[in-house]
Amino acid sequence: MAGYTTDRATTVAPGTPLALVRARHTADVQAVMRVASRFRVPVVPRGLGTGLSGGSTAVDGCIVLSTERMRALSIDTAAMVAIAGPGIRNAELKQAAAAEGLWYPPDPSSFEICSIGGNLATNAGGLCCVKYGVTTDYVLGIEVVLADGRAVRLGGRTIKDVAGYDLKRLFVGSEGTLGVITEAVLRLRPLPPPASTVVASFASLVDAGHAVTRIVSAVRPAALELMDRAAIAAVEAVKPMGLDTTAAALLLARTDGGGDEAHRIAEACETSGATYLAATDDRDEGELLMGARRMAIPCVERTGAVLIEDVGVPVPRIPDLLEEVEAVAVEHRISIPVIGHAGDGNFHPLVTFDPDDGDAASRALAAFDAIMDVALALGGTVTGEHGIGVLKARHLVSQLGGDVMDLTRRIKQALDPYDILNPGKWV
Ligand SMILES: Cc1cc2nc3c(=O)[nH]c(=O)nc-3n(C[C@H](O)[C@H](O)[C@H](O)COP(=O)(O)OP(=O)(O)OC[C@H]3O[C@@H](n4cnc5c(N)ncnc54)[C@H](O)[C@@H]3O)c2cc1C
Repeated sequence: MAGYTTDRATTVAPGTPLALVRARHTADVQAVMRVASRFRVPVVPRGLGTGLSGGSTAVDGCIVLSTERMRALSIDTAAMVAIAGPGIRNAELKQAAAAEGLWYPPDPSSFEICSIGGNLATNAGGLCCVKYGVTTDYVLGIEVVLADGRAVRLGGRTIKDVAGYDLKRLFVGSEGTLGVITEAVLRLRPLPPPASTVVASFASLVDAGHAVTRIVSAVRPAALELMDRAAIAAVEAVKPMGLDTTAAALLLARTDGGGDEAHRIAEACETSGATYLAATDDRDEGELLMGARRMAIPCVERTGAVLIEDVGVPVPRIPDLLEEVEAVAVEHRISIPVIGHAGDGNFHPLVTFDPDDGDAASRALAAFDAIMDVALALGGTVTGEHGIGVLKARHLVSQLGGDVMDLTRRIKQALDPYDILNPGKWV
């Protein structure tokens, strides 16, 4: 069971599970939930364990219920939908759709290693979400097994459907606390047009933040990503590709809107003080640059233990957030490389520390808390896409407030009266 007790939030200590079940069919999941419900055994649903918040971390005495083997997949080209088991990897779904000339847009940086079940349970975002939306925007229907073992279908295959409460959206992003997702009906789009990529360097993070606000008010980029100097250095150390290691920040923008969008993005960067600008229409070159951004988290993880933030702020507050994160790093004497889906206002300050270095761990934790406080003070959120899990549990109440937490707990109580689904996390 050892390989199934943690996710990628390496600072979260796992409990000891009672058993691991690798379900193949909905009936297997139902059987587990019936037994668990009868004997009040905690169940931790699990996809491929790439979560960054401790959501699929085992708790003591639980059944780890892995849906990685639930791998049915079919594409209905006429209806432009995919019917996917939760164990299908995001990249596999993209490939299968592309073979039919279709596209499944949600693209977490982990798309090659994470599962559709995990994507739905965390309402995963990604790079192209700034233009094409997040996971929930593609979910037409789900099959979900409830805490008592009943399997229900929510939503369906139609594009419009307002019959009853939109319960499927309640389960999307519920992080395994309300039910186990056993199938998803997902909307597909035609393949996107060819894209251009613009790269810009900046002498300060705040300048890059201003460029982001200017870009999104001028055009609708298909991706708008940021890496700061420390993140660039971490990637270059692992895979040298000639990124500008002297820049304080790098913006990577993708546009598939044609016309003069690439030019307008470059203009917005120039006005904001870009020190270097380049653009390419070459697909492979564009992919290489976006690939560098996707590699950033694992590359920074090689430099120390990392507490991964996932804060989001309204776009006009991005420069303030970036400035405050720099101040937090100085105040707590800790390295905080910053990457992010800048166009969404969603940033991942990576609070990095050496766990064997005296009080570094407690300084890191203080910095981690401070950044979430900053995001909330700026009218933002403590998590834009990674979910609450364990890492951000104590900050959820600060964001939602007592009344909304009470409502949240009443929903949980109604659907999971014995509190057996992913208990002890955030609800
Ligand atoms: C390098 C790297 C980059 C990343 N980049 C992004 C990014 O750009 N955007 C983004 O959104 N995320 C990103 N992530 C985080 C992670 O990949 C996503 O949260 C992903 O959706 C998790 O999928 P998983 O299959 O690994 O799920 P897991 O980690 O196994 O589980 C995640 C949560 O979902 C629940 N769960 C899993 N399967 C089910 C199911 N079938 N039914 C009910 N609940 C279930 C679990 O209980 C847990 O709470 C990144 C991770 C890494 C390591």
